[in-house]
Amino acid sequence: MAAQGSYPDTGRTVDTMGKDLERLKQRTPLLEYLQRHHWTGHQVSARSEFVGLCPLHEETHPSFYVNPQKNLFYCHGCAQGGDLIRFVELTRHLSFCQSVAYLEEELAPTNQLLHHTAAFYQLELRRYPEGIEYVVKRGVHDPHLIEALGIGYARGGNLRPHLQNLGYSLERLLEAGLIGPQGRDAFCRRVIFPCRYSDRIVNFYGRSIGRAFPHRLLPRSKGGLFAWESVRQFRDVILVEGLFDLAVLWQAGFRNTTCAIGTHLTPLQLDQLRENSDRCVYIAFDQDENQAGQNAADALLHCLEQAGLHVRIVSLPASHDPNSYFLAGASAEDFAHLLEEAPSL
Ligand SMILES: [Zn+2]
Repeated sequence: MAAQGSYPDTGRTVDTMGKDLERLKQRTPLLEYLQRHHWTGHQVSARSEFVGLCPLHEETHPSFYVNPQKNLFYCHGCAQGGDLIRFVELTRHLSFCQSVAYLEEELAPTNQLLHHTAAFYQLELRRYPEGIEYVVKRGVHDPHLIEALGIGYARGGNLRPHLQNLGYSLERLLEAGLIGPQGRDAFCRRVIFPCRYSDRIVNFYGRSIGRAFPHRLLPRSKGGLFAWESVRQFRDVILVEGLFDLAVLWQAGFRNTTCAIGTHLTPLQLDQLRENSDRCVYIAFDQDENQAGQNAADALLHCLEQAGLHVRIVSLPASHDPNSYFLAGASAEDFAHLLEEAPSL
């Protein structure tokens, strides 16, 4: 059970509250909520009500009635009744406002949590030099860009107390994958890029700055293509493998660059590219010595062409990716030239 005050303040004004409450109750019908919390009731014949054992008091004969039309409950045994919010107040021993916050969290369980986490990582990037040193070493130095991409740093070991101070329970952090089962931070000594979908943070990509495996995401959907809200306006887009590739290209003025974090597109990401049927996709994957990047680009080429898109494959110098290409001294003109040269297949 959640402790009192364990849900962050929603920051709403009283005026908007009434409408929000109606919406909240519509989004979660009482009967559905009860069933999700293992309440079983059977329909009372010829009436639209359901009856079952009361979750609020001990009983052997069912006297807890739910009316799905009115979205209300009433118990003839303990004489308690009301709506979903009232039910949460009674079962979780929360105040009215806390019950509302609890339900909002339950409906959008990780949205606000990931938002708070991203803000914390951004602060940490300013606090500890090793994070920003790594970002600069990778060729990303424009402070406005770092801010725009929401780049942060996870030092590790300090996220949990910070989020618990904001009112998040340990279970919530475990559930979101921010804390592992051993109680350790999922991201430790990693530069963090928040991944958004429809302007909501849905995941984090963490690039190790130490010896740990380089790439890490939370065990949840990575959403759509990176920064798609701003990239979708372009007819021609550049698709890269990694977020540092994207960062240096944005820095060099190629704001039409997006990233799938890896070389495979999910059906959602493919749909995004197909939004514009005239679109040309420039694939700028790594030129690996073992041909991995080139093979991935070829595989993707067929997939995109079947989806009706124009595709061009950008040929970087041997063993380079866009990030290392710029680090080795290439200019925006150099890259623009590679785009021009990219064969349309
Ligand atoms: Zn009762």
